[in-house]
Amino acid sequence: MRALAARGHAIGSHSTTHPNIAFLSEEQARIELSESKRRLEGVLGAPVVHFSYLCPALSPHWKASTVQMCRELGYQTAVTTIGGSVHREDDPMVLHRTGPAKRLDGLRWSVDCSFMDRTRDSRGVVSFLNAAAKQTAGDNDII
Ligand SMILES: [Zn+2]
Repeated sequence: MRALAARGHAIGSHSTTHPNIAFLSEEQARIELSESKRRLEGVLGAPVVHFSYLCPALSPHWKASTVQMCRELGYQTAVTTIGGSVHREDDPMVLHRTGPAKRLDGLRWSVDCSFMDRTRDSRGVVSFLNAAAKQTAGDNDII
């Protein structure tokens, strides 16, 4: 992990035991969120300010108090279990998640759609279907 951080990778917390945070008591949730942060910071020797909400089988995966607790503990961003693009005006503690891609061109397309807003039309509507249709038609050079 230290080598990854030294190469510029952002390292975030994901709890210590991977429970469904939404179903824990406030005390248990606070331990999960703070202890994983503390342990990572001990290894990295640097603040850990990113969190990824867990995605266990039962829903919901997080709730408003989880978001508030993340803020209180010093996290600056958190990724939810909801897929989709990230917009400038989004709450940094409730960001949508981009899933991993199986191929590099899929990863580029996914990151582009998530962060660059290149597929938005003039009304601000994200046109994933158009971009996906182009890619399916053999136009892999979207980026
Ligand atoms: Zn997980």
